[in-house]
Amino acid sequence: MQVLVIGAGVIGLVTARAAALAGHEVVVAEAANAIGTGISSRNSEVIHAGMYYPTGSLRGRHCVQGRRMLYDYCASHGVPHRKCGKLIVATDAAEQVKVESIHAQGLRNGVEGLRMIDAAEARGLEPALSCTGALLSPETGIIDAHGYMLALRGDLEDRGGRIAFNTPVEQLSRADGRWRVAFGGKEAGSIAVDAVVNAAGLGAQAVATRTEGYPAERVPPLVLCKGNYFSYAGRPVFSRLIYPVPVDGGIGIHITLDLAGRMRFGPDVEWLEREDYAVDPKRADAFYARIRSYWPGLPDNALMPAYCGIRPKLSGPGVPQQDFLIEGPLQHGLPGLVHLFGIESPGLTSSLSLAEEVVSYL
Ligand SMILES: Cc1cc2nc3c(=O)[nH]c(=O)nc-3n(C[C@H](O)[C@H](O)[C@H](O)COP(=O)(O)OP(=O)(O)OC[C@H]3O[C@@H](n4cnc5c(N)ncnc54)[C@H](O)[C@@H]3O)c2cc1C
Repeated sequence: MQVLVIGAGVIGLVTARAAALAGHEVVVAEAANAIGTGISSRNSEVIHAGMYYPTGSLRGRHCVQGRRMLYDYCASHGVPHRKCGKLIVATDAAEQVKVESIHAQGLRNGVEGLRMIDAAEARGLEPALSCTGALLSPETGIIDAHGYMLALRGDLEDRGGRIAFNTPVEQLSRADGRWRVAFGGKEAGSIAVDAVVNAAGLGAQAVATRTEGYPAERVPPLVLCKGNYFSYAGRPVFSRLIYPVPVDGGIGIHITLDLAGRMRFGPDVEWLEREDYAVDPKRADAFYARIRSYWPGLPDNALMPAYCGIRPKLSGPGVPQQDFLIEGPLQHGLPGLVHLFGIESPGLTSSLSLAEEVVSYL
């Protein structure tokens, strides 16, 4: 089949690669002039182990399976990564109960190596840490997300796949049993293909709205939830990722490491009306307060506004977190069409496993 994938973020690239490996002829249409300019370059670059998500949910299933596949892929393709491990820390009795419930959820999801440790053992691992107890996740790691996307692009192109940059998809319509894809840009035009995967991230709902025959009531709401990051100029004091208990909308302002070992902090939760990528320096106040609850040694004036990403959520504040939404032919009845909605965290980790499911629907 001729398959068109919309979007060259991590999800579009990994799906295009999987479709090419399955023997399809693949073109990726990307509105920007490079790969990975959207959500995929504005995240924590963490390989999640998979303990936060309900058992059997798409996020739970693909995070655990995708994580195993991602470590293998990084090893075989030379993608920079490190299985550094992570601690989810409790700082009082109420948080201890929450951490224990994350442990139980992780065990139900089949996450390997999870273990509750007491404050003394946690401090033995990370002497700067202050906590009453913690969950140790040895399978959590970090990855060079851009290096991963470059490797996916390489695989795609090795199989004859192509990426058309500066090619915003404007309309999908049915013609002679195929999909006619109209695109804008300097060389606007249209092509006919057998199948379309909409992996447009924050643009997925807009594409779905302009899909002939796709019922408007099936297009889920797009709720924008920004996550801001602050960088830290000092010498790193932790060797593992340190997470507090999750909050409404996110998994808490955590300490992540990049592959050079530098520490950064975030993301927080800021609900937005429209896309906006400025990081307000005033938000640092909440960061100091939260981080000092588990790292009292965080010095004054140590945090600098860094960058932010926007989660493409399907529900707003106070509402239980929605799962990834895969709208394939079985759901909407239109052949050869898959819309992907709400692919927020852990989308990067889940990507290789998610792509296999998406391609199976074509
Ligand atoms: C703050 C934050 C932290 C996160 N941390 C992690 C983490 O640590 N670990 C993890 O596993 N996951 C994490 N995630 C989730 C992960 O980053 C996303 O799931 C993933 O990057 C989504 O990729 P995507 O390809 O769907 O979207 P994108 O990367 O945004 O790609 C979509 C692409 O589609 C293009 N596009 C849009 N509309 C059109 C159109 N009409 N025509 C053509 N092209 C179009 C855009 O230009 C863009 O390039 C995080 C997300 C956020 C926001």
